Amino acid sequence: MSAFVGKYTDELIKTAKYLATPGKGILASDESTGTIGKRLSSINLENVESNRQALRELLFTAPGVFDYLSGVILFEETLYQTTSDGTPFVDLIRAGGAVPGIKVDKGTVEIAGTNGETTAQGLDSLGARCAKYYEAGARFAKWRAVLKVGPAEPSELAVRQNAEGLARYALICQEFGLVPIVEPEILTDGAHDIKTCAAVTERVLAAVYKSLNDHKVLLEGTLLKTNMVTPGSDSPKACRYDRHSCNLLLPEYQPMPDHHISFMDFQVGAEVIAEYTVAALRRTVPPAVPGVVFLSGGQSEEEATQNLDAMNKLEVLKPWTLSFSFGRALQQSTLKKWLGKNENVAAAQATFLVRCKANSEAGLGKYTGSGAGDAAASESLYVKGYKY
Ligand code: 13P
Repeated sequence: MSAFVGKYTDELIKTAKYLATPGKGILASDESTGTIGKRLSSINLENVESNRQALRELLFTAPGVFDYLSGVILFEETLYQTTSDGTPFVDLIRAGGAVPGIKVDKGTVEIAGTNGETTAQGLDSLGARCAKYYEAGARFAKWRAVLKVGPAEPSELAVRQNAEGLARYALICQEFGLVPIVEPEILTDGAHDIKTCAAVTERVLAAVYKSLNDHKVLLEGTLLKTNMVTPGSDSPKACRYDRHSCNLLLPEYQPMPDHHISFMDFQVGAEVIAEYTVAALRRTVPPAVPGVVFLSGGQSEEEATQNLDAMNKLEVLKPWTLSFSFGRALQQSTLKKWLGKNENVAAAQATFLVRCKANSEAGLGKYTGSGAGDAAASESLYVKGYKY
């Protein structure tokens, strides 16, 4: 079985490798018009194009931001927008040394007969859209498949459908020169413990890589975007406490004695999340994949940063770059600082830079806690049944 070879093979490998540059990550600013509307309404702004443009301009023109970003994911509208002085966003991003990307799925639909499980839409005419986005400067894409944990979920059907969809999407992107970010997201909704999340994550990732292989997707020209392995959002606190099997998961890893301190309050510490997440990845994600970038999934900004940092501090073999592709956990405190006011733009950009720098350090396992000061950074961003 050999992987797909097409006219863009070398470029795909180069782009994927660049996106996975250690110490850099990806800004997910590809919220659909509906989702960005919820963000804007949280600061009493109307969901009109000028406000959507202003928020994205604030993010992309933050001084120094591209020191920490290798890529920026855009929604279709944003791909064609410019700054207020007329510079196309795509040019701005490229001038900063980052790669523009594009969300290409068209949201999710329910799979009839399941308990609210979904599959992503958008395969029809995807090739033509990819060609158009390449022409406009995009070099990578994102497709978000959503799975949920429940008594009988994810069902075999949902796992299979989403894995197939991701593989079809990935191959079409590669034919047209876009690096596919393969994104199976297991929602945090539910009362399950961390072990259940680990088992589901492993099952889903194993199915996804089987499909990618069946479809001959060139893994070197892809990235994985997935959830961190955490307890469910409604799990009782007592069952969040569990680290007994960690040594089994990562046999060569010897935890430091002080790793136990953070578990005293019956929360799962960052080290435990890191161990379960890295173990799930090691069991399923081939080393040919250059990078794994995490979504934040409703974690607070600070939690997401600390969990990423803990993964990169783990002294076990991790053959991929582990970095961030956060949406909510990069933008929340910035949004609150901005409030839609011109006079707040500089302060909001400084706040945004704090988060980008913190996550860049976390991507190297060198986070020093520099972003922990802002109260907004510790607020949970969890929304039940989150749609992107
Ligand atoms: P988060 O807000 O969960 O970080 O989402 C990132 C993303 O791009 C989901 O597809």
